[in-house]
Amino acid sequence: MDFTLSDQHRMLQDSVRRFAEKEIWPIAEEIDEKDEWPEGMWQKLGELGVMGITADVEYGGAGADLLSAILVLQELSKASPSVALSWGAHANLCVNNLNRNANTTQKETYLPPLCLGEHIGALGLTEPDAGSDAVNIQTVAVRDGDRYIVNGTKMFITNGSVANTIVLYTKTDKEKKARGITAFILDTAFPGFSVSKKLKKYGHRGSPTAELILEDCVIPAENVLGEENKGIDVLMSGLDVERAFYAGESLGIAEACLALSLKYARERVQFGKPIGSFQLVQAKLADMYTQIEAGRMLCYRAAIMADAAERGGKGAEIHKLSSASILYNGEMAVRVADQAVQIHGGYGYMLEYPVQRFLRDAKLIEIGAGTSEIRRLIIARELMGA
Ligand SMILES: Cc1cc2nc3c(=O)[nH]c(=O)nc-3n(C[C@H](O)[C@H](O)[C@H](O)COP(=O)(O)OP(=O)(O)OC[C@H]3O[C@@H](n4cnc5c(N)ncnc54)[C@H](O)[C@@H]3O)c2cc1C
Repeated sequence: MDFTLSDQHRMLQDSVRRFAEKEIWPIAEEIDEKDEWPEGMWQKLGELGVMGITADVEYGGAGADLLSAILVLQELSKASPSVALSWGAHANLCVNNLNRNANTTQKETYLPPLCLGEHIGALGLTEPDAGSDAVNIQTVAVRDGDRYIVNGTKMFITNGSVANTIVLYTKTDKEKKARGITAFILDTAFPGFSVSKKLKKYGHRGSPTAELILEDCVIPAENVLGEENKGIDVLMSGLDVERAFYAGESLGIAEACLALSLKYARERVQFGKPIGSFQLVQAKLADMYTQIEAGRMLCYRAAIMADAAERGGKGAEIHKLSSASILYNGEMAVRVADQAVQIHGGYGYMLEYPVQRFLRDAKLIEIGAGTSEIRRLIIARELMGA
C-alpha cells in the first residue's frame, strides 16, 4: 500500500494550484459578491488543459484517471468552490459521462469542443418534483420517426444557463420507473430548449444554476446516450463516479479553511498572545487536521476503487465506498468550515473574510449528488445485503 501521490499526480496538483492562486483566488470574493461567473474563465481552464481531464486523448481529452480529476477539483475548491463546482459539472457530469457512455460518432461530434473549453457541459437529472427520488422524473421523450419530442422541466442544473451540451435524463416509458429512463445528449441549440431562470443561491455563488424548460424539444434519435430505456445504467455508473469525485471539493474547502485558520491563529493577538497559543484553539486546529486526513484517505481510495470498478472491478463495493466518501467529506467540510469561522471570531462572520464563504459553499455538498440521508441509506442497504 503506497500512500504517496505519483510524480504525475503531483505535477498536475502543482500546476493547478499555481493557476488557482494566480487566476482565481484574487477574484474569489468578487465572484461570490457579484454572483457572476468570471469572464474568460472557461477559456483559461481550457488552456490549463483540464476541461477534458478524464476523456480519451483521441477526442481531445487528457486521458487522466479519476484521482487526477479529484486533485484538480481540490485545488480549484481551495480558491473558489464556485469555479470548482461548475468545472466539475462540465468535466465530470458531462464530459466523463459522454466518454464512458457515448458511441464513437457521438464522441467525435461532442467531445472535442468540450475538451478544448469551447463548449460547456452540464447534466440534467433533477426536476422540481424529483430530487432524491430520481427514478420518478417526469420529463417525457416520445419517439417520432428518427427523432424524439421531449417535454419537461429540469431544476437546479449547474451550468444549465450557459451549457452547449447537456446529458439529459428522460422517461421513454412512464409506466416503468428505473427501466423507463432514457439518457440523451442535448445540444442546447435544438429547438424547444430554453432557460427559465438563473437561480440565486446561498453559496457557490457565481456558479450558474438554472431551471430548464423542454417544450416540444426535438432531439434526433442518434443522440440517445446508451440505449432506449437503459438510461438507468448510464445514471448509476455516473453516480458512483460523481460521489467519489465531489468528495474532492469538500477536501479542498476543508484544507483552505485549515490554512486560513492557522494563519489567523498565528496573527491574532488576545490577552497579549497569539490565539494559536491557547489550547482550546489548538484543539480545534488539531481536530480539523485529523478530519481532513481521514477524509483524504477515504476520498483517494474511493477514487481509485471507482476507476477500477469502471474497468470491471468490484462494482458493489464502490456504491457504499463512494457514498461513504462523499458522506464523510461533505459533513467534514461543514464542521471544519464552521470551526474556521469560530477561530476567526467576529471577523469570521464578516463578508470580507473568506471563511464564511467556505462555510456557505460547504453546505451544498451535504445536498448535491444525493443528500447525506440518501448516502446513509445506500451504505446501510449494501451493508445489510439488500
Ligand atoms: C447548487 C445546486 C446544484 C445542483 N446541480 C445539479 C446538476 O447539475 N444536475 C442535477 O441533475 N441536479 C443538480 N442538483 C440537484 C441535487 O442533486 C438535488 O438537490 C438533490 O439530489 C436533492 O434533491 P431535492 O433538492 O429535490 O431534495 P429532496 O429529495 O426533496 O429532499 C428533501 C429532504 O428530504 C430528505 N429525503 C428525501 N428522501 C428521503 C428518504 N427516502 N429517506 C430519508 N430522507 C429523505 C432529503 O435527504 C432532504 O433532506 C443541484 C442542487 C443544487 C442545490
